[in-house]
Amino acid sequence: MSASKLGGGSLVIATHNAGKLKEISALLAPLGLNCISAGALGLPEPAETGTTFVENALIKARAAASASGLVSLADDSGLSVAALDGRPGVYTADWAEKQWFEGLPGRDWFMAMGKVEGMLQALGPDTPRDAWFSCVLAIAWPEGESVVYEGRVDGALTWPPRGVKGFGYDPVFIAKGYDQTFAEIDPAQKHAISHRADAFSKLVKDQFGE
Ligand code: IMP
Repeated sequence: MSASKLGGGSLVIATHNAGKLKEISALLAPLGLNCISAGALGLPEPAETGTTFVENALIKARAAASASGLVSLADDSGLSVAALDGRPGVYTADWAEKQWFEGLPGRDWFMAMGKVEGMLQALGPDTPRDAWFSCVLAIAWPEGESVVYEGRVDGALTWPPRGVKGFGYDPVFIAKGYDQTFAEIDPAQKHAISHRADAFSKLVKDQFGE
């Protein structure tokens, strides 16, 4: 595989998030790439010390590329709420960390969705509920090159959460033009319009000229 372009070789998916791994593998399936997960290779998870989605995606892709010696793809994504000045943003996953308030390990997405909802309700009943998911995909080559692609999907938050498909904040997010949440619509429909799909179509166009 040449540096700067993906060929039909192996690609490390630098995520330990099962939901993301499933979605990324589905999006990559038609491209003839042999996808290996960072978890399967036993790669450590680097600390996400960046303050932007781009910085964090690059940290993860570069760490996986230098540890594995293989081209690596990482995703950094999150939910931004307009009325909360874009929060939780890059801290989306942190807001679900249970130990933040109860000393327990692991993530609780229901708690995280409730925290966002509580902040919106505290701002008053007429607070706009506009929100968007962002996704940055970073590819890093072991030789040191890297490239990033940014995607986004706009929508609004609903309450209470609805649906059992998807992951993370999907049960409270309704994409523009839809009535159902990302956890209610068919996964294939989500894959067609999501922030990850938007970033992926840019990646495929640039890397494969499609
Ligand atoms: P990170 O990119 O691993 O820092 O995690 C970002 C977090 O944003 C994820 O753990 C999810 O909770 C949330 N997130 C990102 N993409 C989606 C999505 O497609 N649906 C629901 N939640 C998402």
